[in-house]
Amino acid sequence: MSLNNENQVVSEFNELNIFDRNSNSLKINHENCYDPDNYKFWCKECVPRCIIEGWTSGNDDVDNFIKDTIYNVSHNFEDPFFLEWVPFDRFENMKQIGEGGFAKVYSATWIDGKAVYYKQDDGSWIKKEPEPIEVALKRLNGSQNMSSDFLNELKTCWNFYIKSHAVCLKLYGITRDPKTKEFIMIMQFADEGNLRSILSSNFNNISWHDKIKYLCQSAIDLKNLHSMGFFHKDFHSGNILNLDNESYISDFGLSGPSNEQKSDNKIYGVLPYIAPEVLNGEPYTLCSDIYSFGVVMAELSSGKPSFHNRKHDTSLALDICNGLRPEFGKGTPEIYKKLAHRCMNANPNQRPAANELQGILGNWWGYKDNEKYGYKAKEVEAAFDEADKEIPNILTSYEKNSDAIYTSRAFTFKNLSKPINSSFISALYLNDEEDNKDCQDSQLIDLEVPSTSKLDGKYNLLYDDNDN
Ligand SMILES: [Zn+2]
Repeated sequence: MSLNNENQVVSEFNELNIFDRNSNSLKINHENCYDPDNYKFWCKECVPRCIIEGWTSGNDDVDNFIKDTIYNVSHNFEDPFFLEWVPFDRFENMKQIGEGGFAKVYSATWIDGKAVYYKQDDGSWIKKEPEPIEVALKRLNGSQNMSSDFLNELKTCWNFYIKSHAVCLKLYGITRDPKTKEFIMIMQFADEGNLRSILSSNFNNISWHDKIKYLCQSAIDLKNLHSMGFFHKDFHSGNILNLDNESYISDFGLSGPSNEQKSDNKIYGVLPYIAPEVLNGEPYTLCSDIYSFGVVMAELSSGKPSFHNRKHDTSLALDICNGLRPEFGKGTPEIYKKLAHRCMNANPNQRPAANELQGILGNWWGYKDNEKYGYKAKEVEAAFDEADKEIPNILTSYEKNSDAIYTSRAFTFKNLSKPINSSFISALYLNDEEDNKDCQDSQLIDLEVPSTSKLDGKYNLLYDDNDN
């Protein structure tokens, strides 16, 4: 934006701030619209005009969605935070860094960086000097017409951001490739990469304390998503990203409200992480995300992606329905295996809810006693300290079967058997007495995170719900 535009904004805003020209009967005093202590910055009428006007994405739905985030900028942020429309030529140094089933991801320099506005004493808004930042650009394959699926991904990502009080990977805005016309999400860049690549390059240096931290932080994200009534639907180690040694879940391409499911009879995802009931054609539930979480737990323990040594085909799907589960690394504490196997229970109702996972993992991570879950801090610490001694001895190199595929894709399976637990795992790790617990209902209750507290890191979110 040029300096001239900025000056224009300022003068228009001042006029609006004095009185409302368009209303004879109802005078709005816009001084009251600005109340940062209560996260209020402007109303629909006194938004700085340059933010709202002078741009279009070329798609009304996208424009309206971006404008909604601007009008409704009142969500616990210290400065107004909203989505931006950014022309594609404001990015340089684009490099492809990843490819998922439905998108390509690039790193890039955003020349102007995120727009930051702050209010001056005279009531006008001023834009901070642009500062280049590194971002991730997620190109949504085939999004030229911005179908409802793509719009849904944007909305989920934004709503999750609000729900998480910004303690998640940020969505900054949207751009569009003028050549292909595809829409591109502008995201915070997770410079440490995804959990799968971190494990493959550095497994022998990651202590159990760090593994628990990664899991706990992912559980917080999952809990926030579930508390929106949404499931992730594509939870795997390639979608857990690390930034500043903290883990964040990403990629809401398949996420959606749990009460609005597609009925195209196709199963989407990365096969080893898909819950057996879903493979078997049952509807996806919040509990199906928890199964995937258990598979990630096994991966953190062994350092290798589950079922890397075999084809990801119907035969594997059948074996999973018959109770086959991923292997754990040598020395893994029994309490850890037990929790992971609970997540991977063939009976979805027996899996823990995301807030219980967060509670347990939070206590393990923080070395806290927890009567509710029956863990003693000293014993937990000793078990994980002992397990740390084995980490340097765990071999992490492996040969991947060329048909073991870790990007999301669509499957159809026929004639799988009803999912069961293996008798071996049941005997060692599962306690199937509490058969009547309803997983989905219990997950949807008591999951609200406090909406008033200012949160500057995931650690603050940890102990909120332990005593629910
Ligand atoms: Zn106003």
